[in-house]
Amino acid sequence: MAFTNSSLVSMVSISPNRSIGRYNIVNGVRIAPITKITKITIHHWAGVGTLDTFKNIVMNPNREMSANYAIDVIGKIGLFCPEADRSWCSSSQWNDNRAITIEVSNSAYGDASGWPISDASYKALIRLCVDICKRNGIPKLEFTGDKNGSLTYHYMYASTGCPGPYIKARTQQICNDVNAQLQTASTPDVSGYLVSLEANAPIYDTAGGKVISKIAKSTKYTIVKDKKIGYITYGLLKSNAGWVVVKNETPVVHTPTTSAPVQSDLYKKSLKANELVYKEAGGSTIGTVGANGVFTIVEEKTVGNQVFGKLKSGKGWVVVKTIQTSTSWWSGKYDAQIKELQQILNAGGAGLVADGIAGDKTFQACKKYTVKKGDTGNLIKWVQKRLGVSADGIAGTQTMNAIYAFQKKNGLGVGYLGGDDWKYLIR
Ligand SMILES: [Zn+2]
Repeated sequence: MAFTNSSLVSMVSISPNRSIGRYNIVNGVRIAPITKITKITIHHWAGVGTLDTFKNIVMNPNREMSANYAIDVIGKIGLFCPEADRSWCSSSQWNDNRAITIEVSNSAYGDASGWPISDASYKALIRLCVDICKRNGIPKLEFTGDKNGSLTYHYMYASTGCPGPYIKARTQQICNDVNAQLQTASTPDVSGYLVSLEANAPIYDTAGGKVISKIAKSTKYTIVKDKKIGYITYGLLKSNAGWVVVKNETPVVHTPTTSAPVQSDLYKKSLKANELVYKEAGGSTIGTVGANGVFTIVEEKTVGNQVFGKLKSGKGWVVVKTIQTSTSWWSGKYDAQIKELQQILNAGGAGLVADGIAGDKTFQACKKYTVKKGDTGNLIKWVQKRLGVSADGIAGTQTMNAIYAFQKKNGLGVGYLGGDDWKYLIR
């Protein structure tokens, strides 16, 4: 399903704290893209504020959090992570890869308050949930008390009170209010049209999506809407069981009756079982190699900085090489200070080549560290030198002010030093 975003928003500010795309992840490996959103996760801010308040949090890379949407105390809705992307919100990549996450501002602080939300926020929440369900084909909002329902909560994945007593107590009411609007909306206002379908014809989750079941028997079925993708027109079954092919205008390609032309082997490549297989060079992932082994590559194609090889088995394409190119942010030049930094990081076990050239490995090693007020040590001393303040190895007021000024100058979130800040510091 093509992902869309809500038109109910009055602010769009896309957070850097998100993962591009949505995936099934097994043992840390992206197995296949997730094409359909099946859940909504409602959070509370544990705070009171406006969309600007929320924006300041999620635009700061050091905060490492986001949500697809936030609703503020006066009921305004903001988009902070496109629905196509996974937000960093529920302490669970499994959940966030499947859910639209919504952070709702409270209208009062503190445990004694019960963490209420305003009526305006509640109304906006219901409207937004209805909109999300409609656009993503979620038939109803259902709370099962565990992660299997279409409504999930943060506390299912982490030790947190989120979404707070007030929202928790209204769980059933939220579901009822959303589902009442969905029912009215789905009362068929389209008469549709009839098509003849054969038994066992595939039923897809979305037009052009994946097969979820098949037609039970050969007869006529009512299609309530259709959608053309390429040469194929898909129709949505009135039963809402899914989409079927109602017309296929794919041109007939002449193929020789003899066996397919033999592709000459280019070379053999050793691949690990968990290497991803792509449908096309640079296309979407369709699975993994499946077993360690030596594979024959019959064709090569370069997309961006990756060289893809076509597997002789016909299973798809794999990445055979990543081309190291100079990147937009690092200079590639020798810098004595960078060499010093690499040595400091190595003392902490980074295992870098201390070549004095900043690159992604150095950046990744830096990202493990933050500099907060009161921190001490050689890394602090290095940061002080880099920022041109007196290098006593203690992050005091002067050092923190220099960090804040540096963050401001580079358009970064102002706070302790960490995350992407390092990229700007070492380039
Ligand atoms: Zn939460």
